[in-house]
Parts: sequence; structure tokens; C-alpha cells
Amino acid sequence: MLVWDFMGMKRATRSALRSGTGRGQVRGHTRDFNEIMALAVAGSGTGIWDRDVVTGEIRYSDGWVEILGYRPDEVSTRVEESYDRVHPDDLAYVQATMDAHFEGRTDFYEAEYRLRCRDGGYKWVLSRGRVVSRDARGRALRMVGTTTDISSMRALAERLQQSIELITNLTNQVPGLVFQCLRAPDGTAHMPYASARIDEIYELTAEQVAVSTIPVHERVHPDDLETYRATLAAAAATLTPWHCVFRVLLPEQGLRWRQIDAHPTGLPDGGTLWYGLVVDVTARRRMEQELHALARVDHLTGLPNRRAFTEGMERAWQMLRGGVSRGGAVLMIDIDRFKTINDRYGHAAGDAVLRHVATVLMATLRATDFTGRMGGEEFAACLPDTGLDEAGRIAERLRQAIAGTPVPFESHSIALTVSIGISKMRLADAGGDDALSRADMALYSAKENGRDRVAFATLEVERG
Ligand code: GH3
Ligand code: MG
Ligand code: MG
Repeated sequence: MLVWDFMGMKRATRSALRSGTGRGQVRGHTRDFNEIMALAVAGSGTGIWDRDVVTGEIRYSDGWVEILGYRPDEVSTRVEESYDRVHPDDLAYVQATMDAHFEGRTDFYEAEYRLRCRDGGYKWVLSRGRVVSRDARGRALRMVGTTTDISSMRALAERLQQSIELITNLTNQVPGLVFQCLRAPDGTAHMPYASARIDEIYELTAEQVAVSTIPVHERVHPDDLETYRATLAAAAATLTPWHCVFRVLLPEQGLRWRQIDAHPTGLPDGGTLWYGLVVDVTARRRMEQELHALARVDHLTGLPNRRAFTEGMERAWQMLRGGVSRGGAVLMIDIDRFKTINDRYGHAAGDAVLRHVATVLMATLRATDFTGRMGGEEFAACLPDTGLDEAGRIAERLRQAIAGTPVPFESHSIALTVSIGISKMRLADAGGDDALSRADMALYSAKENGRDRVAFATLEVERG
């Protein structure tokens, strides 16, 4: 059985510590010191070794041999055999590390490697040591050190690594950028984590944003940057989820739409930690825009539909309200006896007539005017900044243009007329609809008075 040379260890420790003050104290309490040392290392999963570099003899503490599952008398004291237990893949590295210290290139020896146990399996250990005496030429004579069982730590590290790989693989599969972002109290920010899709989402690398999020801001469309910043600041101030749909300008992909959703956590220093996802919503936005446009256009004539027209009227009235414009005139146009056209020439002929009226409307109105199909054979036009007299002249021109140009359809030439009602937008109105209603009443009187004519809303209403 090996007996651990505690005196040797004491000398070694003392030499390593090079502590002048502790020397007398250590000498005076050798027994206590040895006992404390033995207790400290026993059961700590750490063993001690003491190597005579000259003779090649190495001695181990009981704790050392226990790590590998041996009994003390089962381990040889030859250093060659100690190398024999090192995992073949780690041997060169262990020897090189040891040599580096022997040759004085390192202050101490430290190596993490696998050692073969009694049962033939391998254990990860961390060995640390130091040459404690050298000859006059600096050659190592004696070296002492410790060996610690780090297999459970390695297993933990391995599991941690696996978890990291799992998360990385998962986040890289998400069709978007998964990120963690840290915002300091001074407003500067960086992304400690950004998944691989950052190359598609922002055409940036994780390394670029690990330093700062400025490269991201540079990708955000200038027109959307303010909204981007404002919504972020609001979410950070209230620690509520951040949602923002914005455009980016990318070197390769050009203009694209992005949607960001992130959750904040307040940090003790006043900063914020965000976890979030940025996805490509370009296709969805384009579809929405197309649907939006479709929902506002009349399919038959291509004119704005009733909804789009009344929205335009609302805007025009708001401008009048805000003093931005002097208001304007509104025309309601209805084809006379349209039902008869349908009945006589067929529905397709009716459609052709409707398209014709739309074309004449577009041709007759000025660039600042806007028009729409209100439904059936009814059209409307808004003439901003236009007085009733001028509106009357335009309406008359329109009436004549339609009455004077019959619509060719198959072998027919379909003659038609329209009746037009005119009103004026007024400050006292509750909205854009009021002027439309008055124009409708005027239209009704035009019909009453024989059709193919222009009628103004009653003077009392208009000038009252
Ligand atoms: P009035 O002079 O009093 O305005 O008589 P009108 O015949 O023009 O008016 P009425 O409201 O009686 O008839 C409108 C007709 O328009 C009835 C409907 O079948 C037809 N119509 C509505 N929408 C369309 C369409 O998209 N295409 C065609 N071809 N006809 C339509
Ligand atoms: Mg009609
Ligand atoms: Mg009608």
C-alpha cells in the first residue's frame, strides 16, 4: 500500500505558496495541517500525485486511485504506466502540455483528458500540477499536482451542448428570424442570439448584430423607421409585447415586408431583454393590398366603387372642415330609362353602355375631380374647389357628351341620355354624405322634370 508523503506535500505546498509568513505556523502545526489537507482532499473527487521526474517514480494519494476504481496497491508507481492509462486520442496533447511545463514555457501544467479506469472505461479528469524543484540548469526534478474527476461536469456540459444544438437547430428551422435582443438603458442594443435566417430576413449575419442592432435599423425602410422606433419605445416603456409590420430595403431582395413580434423583460439596470421572431410577410401584404384595391374598384367599369367614392367624399369634406380647401361640388348622374336599354338590347348591351358612360366621365372630368360608380346605372363625381356655376357647366358638358354619342353595340347604335343632380359641400354638413343626399334629391327633380337635364339642389338648401 502506498503511503502518501504528506511531508513532501507540505513542502511542495509551502514552496508553491512561497509564503514567508505562514512558514513558521505550518512547521509548528504539521500534524494539524496534514490532517486538514487529508480531509480537504478526501471525498472531493480530487487526488494528489507526486512525481520524481528523474527516477520516473510517481506516487498517488488514496483519493487518486479511488477515482479510477483501483485499490491503492493495484497502481504501479512507474510514470510510463500512468501514460498508459491516458486515452490514446489524448496522449499526445497530455505529453505536449507536460513537456511545455517541464521546459518552463508554462507556469503550471493543466490538462483535461480521459483516463482509463479499472473496469476499462474512461473517465474525464482535470490534472493540474507544477514543478516544485529544478536542478541548477533548470531541469525539472520533482512535480506535484492534483487530478479531479470531471466526468459529471463533462456530462453536464455535453447535455448543455446538446440542448444548445437542439435550440439552434429548432430556431434555424423556424421560417423567420428568432432572436434575443438586449437593450441597455442608454438605448443601445445588440442581439446575443440571432438564428440562421437572419441572412434572409435582414441579409445580415449573427456576428454583425451581436455587436449592435444599428445594421438592422439601416435595413428598415426610411418611411417606416419612425413607426418602428416609436412602437418599440412604447412596448419597452410599458413592458408589453411589441408588434410591428414594416418594410425593409435589402441589397439583394429589394423592398420586402417584415413583421416583428417580441416580448420584453425588464432588467434591474433599467435595460430590456427581448425574445422575438421576425417573419417575411411580403406575400401576405401584397395579397392584402390587392384585396384592398379590389374591394374598392367596380369590376365592370374599373371606376372606384361606392365605398371608395364615399371615402373620397369624406376626405374632401374633412379638407373643407380643416380650411385646407374651399369645398366643392357633387354630381349624381343616372342613366335615363336604362331598364329599357337592357330590355331592348340585352344585359350585355347594358354593360357596354355602363362602360361607355364611365369612359365619358373620365374624359370629361378634370385631373383634380374624382368619380365613382355608386351602383346600378348611377354614377357620382366630386369636383373639389369648384363653385356651383362651374360645376353646372361641367355637368352640362357631360350630359351633352353622352346624349351626342350613341354607343355602338353589335349592329346597333344605342342612344342614351343622363340626368344629373348637383349640390355643394357645406361646412354645416355632418359629413361628406350630406352633399351626396342633396345631389340625389336634385337628381330626382331632374327626372321629375323630364330627364336628360341638369338640376341643382334647391336654392334654400344650397345658399341657406
Ligand atoms: P330612370 O330613368 O328612372 O332612372 O329609369 P331606369 O330604368 O334607368 O331605372 P331603374 O332603377 O328602373 O332601372 C335600373 C336598371 O339597371 C335595373 C337593373 O336591372 C339595371 N342594372 C343594374 N345594374 C346593372 C348592370 O351592372 N348591368 C346591366 N346591364 N344592368 C344593370
Ligand atoms: Mg336610371
Ligand atoms: Mg337609378
